[in-house]
Amino acid sequence: MTTQTETAWPENVIARYLTVGGATVDMFEESGYYIPTPPTQTRAHCNGCGEEQIEEWGFSISAHEYGREQPADFDANGQWVTPRVHQWAQSHAETCRAIPKPA
Ligand SMILES: [Zn+2]
Repeated sequence: MTTQTETAWPENVIARYLTVGGATVDMFEESGYYIPTPPTQTRAHCNGCGEEQIEEWGFSISAHEYGREQPADFDANGQWVTPRVHQWAQSHAETCRAIPKPA
């Protein structure tokens, strides 16, 4: 029997959380819908319920939330926002009981 955690990860998945419902929350680094590569945002997607969290690497009105001096107005490699997406994925995985519909 193969479980979700044993199946091969898609190439662009950087992290995966197992939900209490047995689904996974996958995290991606990707380019925005209107901006070509290289990646400009970190996205987490729940394969159980479909909920998503997206944090863009460009700073704007939310920059002050980080509470420290920023090196630039662009978050290179998502080093500031990616931990926030990890937190969302972790907390979502702890509460989401949705499971994907079998194919
Ligand atoms: Zn979910």
